[in-house]
Amino acid sequence: VNFTDVNINQLMEHSISSVIVPENIKISLESKVNNTEIKLDYDQMTQVFTNLLKNAIEAMPEEGGLITVEMTDSSDEITVNITDTGTGIEEENMNKLFTPFFTTKPIGKGTGLGLPIIYGIVKMHKGNITFRSNADKNKGVTGTTFTITLPRMAMT
Ligand code: ADP
Ligand code: MG
Repeated sequence: VNFTDVNINQLMEHSISSVIVPENIKISLESKVNNTEIKLDYDQMTQVFTNLLKNAIEAMPEEGGLITVEMTDSSDEITVNITDTGTGIEEENMNKLFTPFFTTKPIGKGTGLGLPIIYGIVKMHKGNITFRSNADKNKGVTGTTFTITLPRMAMT
């Protein structure tokens, strides 16, 4: 672990530019963060965001879609929302997502280790990760939002 002073906007721009994005998928970044400075492990948090973006890309239907990254902050934490217009997560799978080796992807495509690793990194930063998802077209647009909150004072 290597906590340093990081600019969260710069970290997110770096994360987004590290991911291969198909032409029919757009990523939009909107940061409303007032105080962009936070102490965290740059490489590990890059892994968190690139893995969430990869999952969002992999959840997209054939025709593509939109990924929206929204960032806000308060005096004591930064909140990141990553929303996709993908297929969503089936209700029966929701409680399995952070379990190692749980994957709905074909063999060779998914390891089921992305989210457990992300969870560990976020917890190491004393942060939180939650999600909301709709996989039912009858309930409107399908898609998923992952929300990560990171306290500014993760080290004590
Ligand atoms: P993997 O990507 O290797 O399958 P992950 O731990 O990253 O492993 O994700 C586990 C499972 O969670 C995925 O197989 C998928 O079913 C579901 N999932 C994760 N992110 C999303 C998302 N943005 N949209 C829909 N399903 C998702
Ligand atoms: Mg994954």
